[in-house]
Amino acid sequence: MKNSLLKDHEIGFFALGGLGEVGKNTYVFEIDKEIFIVDAGIMFPDDTLLGVDYVIPDYNYLIENQERIVGLFITHGHEDHIGGIPYLLRQVKIPKIYASGFAVDLLENKLLEHEDVVAPQIVEYKAHHSFKFKSCEVSFIRLNHSIPDMFGINLKTKYGNIFYTGDFKIDYTPVGPVAEYDKLSKIASEGVLCLLSDSTNAERPGRIPSEQVIGASIDEIFQQLKGRIIIATFASNIYRMQQIVSASILNNRKIAVVGRSMERAMEIGMNTGYIRAPKEWIIDAEEVDNYNPNEITILCTGSQGEPMAALTRIANGTHRQIKVKPNDTVIFSSSPIPGNQEGVNKTVDMLYRSGVTVIVNGPVAETHTSGHGAQDDLMLMLSLTRPKFFIPVHGEHRMLKEHKKLAVNLGIKKENILILDNGDVAALSKDSIRKAGTVKAGDVYIDGYGIGSTGAKLIKERKILSEDGLLSVILSVNNNKELVLKPTIVSRGFIFMKTNEDLISQIQRMARLSYVQSVNRNFPLEKIKTQIESDLSEYIYGLTERKPLILTSVIEI
Ligand SMILES: [Zn+2]
Ligand SMILES: [Zn+2]
Repeated sequence: MKNSLLKDHEIGFFALGGLGEVGKNTYVFEIDKEIFIVDAGIMFPDDTLLGVDYVIPDYNYLIENQERIVGLFITHGHEDHIGGIPYLLRQVKIPKIYASGFAVDLLENKLLEHEDVVAPQIVEYKAHHSFKFKSCEVSFIRLNHSIPDMFGINLKTKYGNIFYTGDFKIDYTPVGPVAEYDKLSKIASEGVLCLLSDSTNAERPGRIPSEQVIGASIDEIFQQLKGRIIIATFASNIYRMQQIVSASILNNRKIAVVGRSMERAMEIGMNTGYIRAPKEWIIDAEEVDNYNPNEITILCTGSQGEPMAALTRIANGTHRQIKVKPNDTVIFSSSPIPGNQEGVNKTVDMLYRSGVTVIVNGPVAETHTSGHGAQDDLMLMLSLTRPKFFIPVHGEHRMLKEHKKLAVNLGIKKENILILDNGDVAALSKDSIRKAGTVKAGDVYIDGYGIGSTGAKLIKERKILSEDGLLSVILSVNNNKELVLKPTIVSRGFIFMKTNEDLISQIQRMARLSYVQSVNRNFPLEKIKTQIESDLSEYIYGLTERKPLILTSVIEI
């Protein structure tokens, strides 16, 4: 079945994730009934989603149209682009996954962790490969980002090229291979019908510093420091890890890698050759104390202040092997992702408390650079590809709007640019772009390995529990439905029972009243319970301005 929102000749594009948010990038192209999925990411929840591990898109559209899917194409190995794959594969039949280099390594590792998932063939593409389908030809353009092997994906259609940049910045002195700017000019000369480009840093003026600038800066900092260096960065930033390893070796420091994801990244990085480090320079965390403090770098996770990560545990003194010492220097080779600032502040605070020196990224010490291009980078992409139509992607709504402004300044017509939300379908033809309607899109919460088990109602309950606590009401009745005892009230996290006897007896009276009235109105048992809960909730709110979670049980004795 075809997408009924599209006219016969039109090409469809929509996102199931990635628009109006930074995360769970999942883009869908429909060309002559063929469906091309590009990326399948997850999003990490913010603090309001208690107990939720990940957020993935609602895949319903793909489930309903799975016979038309020709493949899943992966731009690079970041979690917001590949993290959703195991969940997608559990629900949707995907004929083939196309991924390159480092993304393949990360993906294969990820699939090992999800043993129940039956994975399709993973086709490892190279920069010069292209794949022909009935409706278009798919090819790849290497760009620079904060992880090796990031490729923009080009769909050559009968109306011209549709190019999705993936995540990129312009880096003339990258740590890995240089970007294929010549290919951007080539697709431009053939004609780019539509560009879909990374908007993450669209609000940031200027350019993003090169990764090599950071390498030099880290090296300089290392030269000046005495004592141990504890440095935290993203475990996926293989280039940064390489720079830290190189700076350590140059300054005669052995490297201890601490934190599960960092250890794994180092292992994959060294096995695949993305990280070049003589084995004897990498030591176990247990061996750290066998060396002079000046001879040690501890490379660890926790740059985002994550509660269970290595640096957080080092900071609060609960790490098994690494304890901070006064002459240590802790370096954050990272910037807090929006939403993580508070956690990072807490970690920094604890570190200051233990008397160590802390260096965070800033004008004085450049210890981090973003992998996403700022305004000048984005304008260069627009200028090189010269698209007829433009859809900013990968960003919150205001970032998409800023990106649109840049495009308008460069002469792209306003009406040729679409700002979309997840689920909005863009219909493209040779000379037109329009919003055609919407398909189902939404958030699905993942709790452990379960899927969709954590609904909005459950999250709300957890939120209430964490803020206002729990109140349990037990009513003991005889077989004539008469109360035989005073209602029993149990509080957890709501009020302290011993010092609130007055309040408790008021609640008991209200519970009794509500019960008697409900029985008199001949309510069935379930309705009696919900009635008591709603009466009590209102009553307690009036007295305390709090809304604990109320659980009522009626026991016949
Ligand atoms: Zn990325
Ligand atoms: Zn991304």
